[in-house]
Amino acid sequence: NSFSESKLPDQVLECCKTFDKPSPIQSHSWPFLLDGRDFIGIAATGSGKTIAFGVPAIMHVLGKRKSKVSKKVNPLCLVLSPTRELAQQISDVLYDAGKPSGVKSVCIYGGTSKGPQISSLKSGVDIVIGTPGRIRDLIEMGICQLQEVSFVVLDEADRMLDMGFEPEVRSILSQTGSVRQMVMFSATWPPAVHQLAQEFMDPHPIKV
Ligand code: AMP
Repeated sequence: NSFSESKLPDQVLECCKTFDKPSPIQSHSWPFLLDGRDFIGIAATGSGKTIAFGVPAIMHVLGKRKSKVSKKVNPLCLVLSPTRELAQQISDVLYDAGKPSGVKSVCIYGGTSKGPQISSLKSGVDIVIGTPGRIRDLIEMGICQLQEVSFVVLDEADRMLDMGFEPEVRSILSQTGSVRQMVMFSATWPPAVHQLAQEFMDPHPIKV
């Protein structure tokens, strides 16, 4: 129940330097997420869930990139969020958390021009964070290529389905790599979310 116990590299823990200890959702999720397990967290905003999935997402990238020499890379992690505001908050946290170790991310959402988002994707990013509608648009344009994604987070899954994003979420998930770790955070556990988890996750995910 301390950051040193987590044995995470100092540069990845930089983003936690103002915190005394991991929050309960962080200490419960990190061992499983770092071990590659599928994970469902029933947690509300304010629990520290962004760092709970964000730090393992960065570790996932660092583990996979070790032997890569090429600069132009396809994303390895995808984080789907119901709203632009939440996507932006996640992106800010992941930017700070990834910066010391050189992990790059992009935030993709609608209602704004596609140009800068396209440029970032073309220059190569490790992590894509965004809302389902715009991500699907960029997939259809052939710009957002998710076939190498092996770590997927659905944040606020219940809200994402309530907002009617289920077709986009399903279509996007079907574009990600076939061997992938799935993480779902949801404040509630309605049947539609349960169904999605059954279809897209390991049959025995850890549920906290
Ligand atoms: P989140 O649930 O991810 O939206 O985080 C809510 C707030 O908790 C944010 O302001 C974080 O900076 C903060 N936070 C995240 N992890 C910790 C921690 N281990 N200790 C104290 N605050 C934290």
